[in-house]
Amino acid sequence: MTATQETLVPFEEVLERYDPALGLEVHVELNTATKMFCGCPAAFGGEPNTHVCPTCLGLPGSMPAVNRKAVESAIRIGLALNCSIAEWCRFARKNYFYPDMPKNFQTSQYDEPICFDGYMDVEVDGETVRVEIERAHMEEDTGKSTHVGGATGRIHGADHSLVDYNRAGIPLIEIVTKPITGAGAKAPAVARAYVSQLRDLIVALGVSEARMDQGNLRADVNLSLAPKGSGVLGTRTETKNVNSFRSVERAVRFEMQRHAAILDAGRSILQETRHWHEDTGITTSGREKSDAEDYRYFPEPDLVPIAPSRGWVDELRGTLPENPTERRTRLQVEWGFSDLDMRDTVGAGALGLVEETVAAGASPQSARKWWLGELARRANDTGADIADLGVTPADVARVQALVDEGAINDKLARQVFDGLLAGEGTADEIVAARGLAIVSDEGALSAAVDAAIAANPDVAEKIREGKVAAAGALIGAVMKEMKGQADAGRVRELILEKLA
Ligand SMILES: [Zn+2]
Repeated sequence: MTATQETLVPFEEVLERYDPALGLEVHVELNTATKMFCGCPAAFGGEPNTHVCPTCLGLPGSMPAVNRKAVESAIRIGLALNCSIAEWCRFARKNYFYPDMPKNFQTSQYDEPICFDGYMDVEVDGETVRVEIERAHMEEDTGKSTHVGGATGRIHGADHSLVDYNRAGIPLIEIVTKPITGAGAKAPAVARAYVSQLRDLIVALGVSEARMDQGNLRADVNLSLAPKGSGVLGTRTETKNVNSFRSVERAVRFEMQRHAAILDAGRSILQETRHWHEDTGITTSGREKSDAEDYRYFPEPDLVPIAPSRGWVDELRGTLPENPTERRTRLQVEWGFSDLDMRDTVGAGALGLVEETVAAGASPQSARKWWLGELARRANDTGADIADLGVTPADVARVQALVDEGAINDKLARQVFDGLLAGEGTADEIVAARGLAIVSDEGALSAAVDAAIAANPDVAEKIREGKVAAAGALIGAVMKEMKGQADAGRVRELILEKLA
């Protein structure tokens, strides 16, 4: 086991001596109605071991059949990633034993993936980085183990384990990049941008819920360092199941600093899988993994080869969403955003959210303001991605509509977001339940203005003399008295009327 307490090399220093190479493997759980090779429902959750049959339990004599919709989704993902689509390919058995895999092999693809040799152009800080895609192949998910009785939820220290096979056989697409070199100091940001923009694409294709927090989209992050300028690839580590965009970026950064410390000390990197710890921001050793690992792959004898006709592939090409680069350009023009506004929106992973909020009726500027300001800050506080906060674009549009109607102001809107994040109901319900509506009752406002004038005679005198700017102090006093819930515009009018 490698020590986890190496003194990390400062990030800038890593780049003085080493070139990083990244690799990303993303698993996407498809949203098909049924599983990959049987008719069991592919729905998330359910009572344990109720979405199962002889096929997905791997019972002797059961026969799998390929889910056409999953193949269709795989091809559409491949086309969107500019891949070639195989004219003929097969499934393969990847043999290994693990309790959550009832067949003792995973039906996957090996040397004949359905999609290969593609790319995705990713925008990072206003620059376009081309990420080459090696392959996208079809496979099935495993079941889910729960380790009971330990402190950490891991198998070590547990006194027994439970297995739920509801997830076994749910269709997955694994998308593997070629090594991404030359990113230098931007390597962590490139990794994050790739996963974030890949998710946008998956959502636009409509092939998966693509929620990282629910495991519909899972990223494994490979990283290696090579001596600067050497042009070779170093030994890599593979950090598994990093479950937010922010964590992807942090994990790459951490591994770069850790690798550099080991290499600086003249030791070698152990090729292994590693676990990411969200709370402490570090990775720890998983299991050793060599390239020669032998899964005894062989073509799956129970399934016929997949030979998608060119006609079908062309037909599916016609169903693709807008190319992401063109989409960004179009939205920037439609929204009237500056390059910087657009860059920040893409960087925050908020492009789709802003788009949906605008579709729900908000102005682009107000949609951007809430997502990149208030909501990004809260996501940052909790370590979640903004898309996973539980606040929807429709919620944000409704909050802004309440501001536009004068029912609440920006300050009160923040309290509405508190309520939305706490699951207190809709924006309107929260305004009612928390009593947040702005007071526009003339009697109450008038009384508060009179009280503020009486309490600040010198300020009132200045306003009478024509120094209208002094009204700000009285407006402030009224707002304070009314806990921010007064209509500031009307308060100003009343002050000026009374002191005319
Ligand atoms: Zn089944």
